[in-house]
Amino acid sequence: MPSALERCFEGNLLLNCLNPEDRRRLLPDLERIEYKRGETLFAAGREVDFISFPLDQTVVTLVISMIDGRSAETATIGREGAVGGVVSNGGLPASTHALIQIGGPVLRMDSARLQEAKRQSESLRNLFTRYSDCLLAQVLQSVACNALHPIEERCLRWLLTLQDRLDSNVLPITQESLAAMLGVQRTYLTRILRMLQQQGLIEVGRGRITILNRPVIEEVACECHASVRRHFETVLGAIYGPNGRLVAIEPPG
Ligand SMILES: [Zn+2]
Repeated sequence: MPSALERCFEGNLLLNCLNPEDRRRLLPDLERIEYKRGETLFAAGREVDFISFPLDQTVVTLVISMIDGRSAETATIGREGAVGGVVSNGGLPASTHALIQIGGPVLRMDSARLQEAKRQSESLRNLFTRYSDCLLAQVLQSVACNALHPIEERCLRWLLTLQDRLDSNVLPITQESLAAMLGVQRTYLTRILRMLQQQGLIEVGRGRITILNRPVIEEVACECHASVRRHFETVLGAIYGPNGRLVAIEPPG
């Protein structure tokens, strides 16, 4: 009979694909914590003591803030992944700010404990290496996207990325946080959203954006969303369902 904590594994695709031995290895060190929207998982420059696995609809964004106060999103992580010391092997200062974008539960564990578990288990090491590669692919694509693609396409790309992680057409996101993610003024973003709404792609409400026509959005958005998704599929197995939603993950072979 799985414990309440072990049942939480189902809420995160990385944890859910662990073999029984790796599950037993991680279980004693995991704790479940609830976060609210806008809370900080870790701040830039601070030690990353924990690795966090977003559960269910929890979404975390990695944000870079500039001295002039402007900011931009560099990666968005939901139940397909993990946050904190995934690439750096943990225990090092964070280079970005990790912000809770959509509040909810996470399972977290001490980074040093995870390092120890990875040393003991090749399958765990393999899974995290593959995931790190996918996260890096997402970040690298963002670099090119931010330099080359117009704001309307980047906006749609980000909405698709969020929808993948929420499994819902209604995205509880404010215009203010979307503007901060995209690194543009709120008034400018409002104009862009109005235009996308007039095209029948989205509906903008108070504190939420509803996806009305995903197939057309996929055509109109830049290639970056599809490109990152293909990389996830190739490296981590079938994590995206037929509607572009994260459904299940095959254990890496
Ligand atoms: Zn792009």
